[in-house]
Amino acid sequence: FLSVGQSVFHLSFLIPNIIESGVSFERVNQVLEDRPAVAEADHPVDIPSISSHIRMDEVTFGYADGPDILKHASLYIPAGSFAAFVGPSGSGKSTALQLLQRFYDPRQGRVTIDDLDLKQISEKSLREQMGIVFQDTFLFNVTVKENIMLGNRNLTEVDMVAAAKAANMHETIMSWPQGYDTPILQEGASLSGGQRQRLSIARTLLRKPSILLLDEVTSALDPATEADINRTLEQLKGNTTIVSVTHRLSSIVHADLIFVYEDGQVVEVGSHEELLSREGLYREMWEKQAGFSLSQDGLHARVDVN
Ligand code: ADP
Ligand code: MG
Repeated sequence: FLSVGQSVFHLSFLIPNIIESGVSFERVNQVLEDRPAVAEADHPVDIPSISSHIRMDEVTFGYADGPDILKHASLYIPAGSFAAFVGPSGSGKSTALQLLQRFYDPRQGRVTIDDLDLKQISEKSLREQMGIVFQDTFLFNVTVKENIMLGNRNLTEVDMVAAAKAANMHETIMSWPQGYDTPILQEGASLSGGQRQRLSIARTLLRKPSILLLDEVTSALDPATEADINRTLEQLKGNTTIVSVTHRLSSIVHADLIFVYEDGQVVEVGSHEELLSREGLYREMWEKQAGFSLSQDGLHARVDVN
């Protein structure tokens, strides 16, 4: 229920540009009123792109005066890797993503990038280093180009095309008669889910984030489109640290590290093969999603995504 507010919040630093470029934006301002406040450090540090790791150290967190949602959750994500968060709905995956961006501060424990506490890092620099893509995309009734650039005057068309290529969207755009000048109508209703997702990935990649966060990005897509997007992400790995929240287990078979959440805790960590070989929650989830027992059908049996 939070995703709309979150997406808009992430665009918030671009709002002045968007408004300048003439896009109408009432809904955005409405949601921005709810923006959570975290205090900037007295002497905030700007960070260059992440070089070593992201870490959560025994993090406990709850919203406002509510109960603890994350409970002593720890994780370690090496720079350049593809990490996945899985686990039952409500287990705290999206909450953890929000803490990684310092939308909120933990009640206990620390979140660090390259051993620097997020509280020390300037908000501007955090926003520059992190890009996020959600299941819900936001397209505006302007051209494809304007949708990707979002009024960002520091970036060139060369950057834009590179981002669209990285998002596997360039060829599709070029197949349209007006190319990048094609107007988006009805906020992209006539585009396929995969195309909208790829445009929003291109928009995010244009800013060259060193950390890319994805929250249920492929959940509404058909398996073929999902596979396309996953190939796109595979190519980004190495240069970009990727953290992907998903309930589609088939999406993360090739992830470097899978973190399994249960009731606000990270209960298992490992690669797909490692986790499957244990009798734990991951294996249980996989068997349930696959709809049959893995012991009968083997590890590489076809999986029906739900
Ligand atoms: P997941 O992404 O794993 O489905 P979430 O992190 O979204 O889980 O939610 C974990 C728990 O936190 C849920 O019980 C959810 O209702 C609660 N929650 C999420 N966002 C908020 C919020 N803004 N205020 C209060 N509770 C929230
Ligand atoms: Mg979630």
